[in-house]
Amino acid sequence: MGDKLSENWAQNVEWTPAEIAYPSTELEIQEIVLRAANDRKKLRVIGAGHSFTALCETDSILMSLDSYQGLISVDHDRCQATVRGGTRLKLLGELLFQEGMAMENLGDIDVQSIAGTISTGTHGTGKSFGTISTQVVALKFVNGKGELVSCSVTEETDLFRAAQVSLGLLGIIIEVTLQCVPVYTLLLQNHKESLDAVLSTVDTRNDENRNFEYYWLPYTKTAWTKATNITTEKPDRTSFLNYWTEFVLENYSFKVLCEIARLFPSQNQRISRIVAMSVPTGRKVNYSHKIYVTQRLVKFTEMEYNIPAEAYQEVWKEVVRTINRGRFDVHFPIENRWVKGDDIFLSPASGRDSAYIACHVYQGKDFRDYFHTLEEIFRSFGGRPHWGKMNTLTADDVREIYPEFSRFERIRQLHDPDGVFINPYVEMLLGVS
Ligand SMILES: Cc1cc2nc3c(=O)[nH]c(=O)nc-3n(C[C@H](O)[C@H](O)[C@H](O)COP(=O)(O)OP(=O)(O)OC[C@H]3O[C@@H](n4cnc5c(N)ncnc54)[C@H](O)[C@@H]3O)c2cc1C
Repeated sequence: MGDKLSENWAQNVEWTPAEIAYPSTELEIQEIVLRAANDRKKLRVIGAGHSFTALCETDSILMSLDSYQGLISVDHDRCQATVRGGTRLKLLGELLFQEGMAMENLGDIDVQSIAGTISTGTHGTGKSFGTISTQVVALKFVNGKGELVSCSVTEETDLFRAAQVSLGLLGIIIEVTLQCVPVYTLLLQNHKESLDAVLSTVDTRNDENRNFEYYWLPYTKTAWTKATNITTEKPDRTSFLNYWTEFVLENYSFKVLCEIARLFPSQNQRISRIVAMSVPTGRKVNYSHKIYVTQRLVKFTEMEYNIPAEAYQEVWKEVVRTINRGRFDVHFPIENRWVKGDDIFLSPASGRDSAYIACHVYQGKDFRDYFHTLEEIFRSFGGRPHWGKMNTLTADDVREIYPEFSRFERIRQLHDPDGVFINPYVEMLLGVS
């Protein structure tokens, strides 16, 4: 993200806010929202700007909670922690660790804010774990009328289910209470395998491993699998080796290959095969918050769809068949993850155990034909996009694929009757005003 908060991480969306606010107290947050409402101005709140869609775009007031981070309280008996909404996941991991606690699961980076993370339904992998929003047990936010509102798994439960994934539309989330678990250590095992072998055992892998995911290298028969399990081993000290693999090989050499692929589009298939040859194998042991996280120094644009878990094999075969026809100049690995269903109104995993398929294109390359073609496959199997990633959904589509949308919308209208938190993108996407 640029220093002036005028673009997202992927640099595919730019905006020029009239004002950027960095409140550092609850009262300041309330005052800014009230001022916006009274002046009939719009206000969007941004976390780390890691969403690929125009969720944070505004020419009015942009609020960042970067000055509103940290731990508020810890309940050791319940293993719960309450943190400020702007807290970045990296800091959160460290703060929890000092308290002997950890999050039960995470996605593959830790730069997002906790409020931004849950607001788009961010997820990791593991069939026993829901999206990160399901780790939340209580929320406090400032609604569009400047009021402080609280809800939890036991109080105001409909409001809570709306607020767990809310795209910044109910208000500014200022406090998040998380159900944590005691600190744990994970053993991560990377393997290079044949795609066919992975596909024929995918259910077993998901049953036998705490967290399982894999990448497919387009135009090859190779899969890079990652399995993570709790271990009693001590965190290992092979940090230089890990540094070399993750930072240098996975990022810098990959960037060189991406540049070659950009300059010579016909070389994409060959480059994918080179990437397949260099899939890292090996093991790594560390505390959970350090194991989940990878470094993403090569920028890309991404689309990720949630599909019903039971449709996975069929969808995936269609994806592979489509790509192997050779129409697309792509080489970025395609990521496959699994997530447990939940009951959150706007969660892509609402009402169903899910698989997620994510495709990426190097920054600056035209992704439209590739994404659109795959999106049609996902949509034909009841797919729902990750809210933070590229998609071409319309308001009618959202109503069709989210049976609980009207319940969310009723609650949104109650908490933001003047549409303070609406920007043109959400207006188009959700048909709200
Ligand atoms: C390199 C990279 C890796 C990623 N890896 C994963 C992954 O492994 N799994 C996954 O599911 N996703 C992943 N994502 C997507 C990312 O997790 C989501 O887009 C997430 O929402 C970004 O968090 P953020 O703090 O940057 O929020 P932003 O992108 O800044 O904002 C997202 C939404 O949250 C709202 N919001 C932010 N703060 C608040 C607040 N205080 N109150 C109310 N609303 C708020 C914003 O208005 C906006 O609607 C990745 C993205 C990138 C760029």
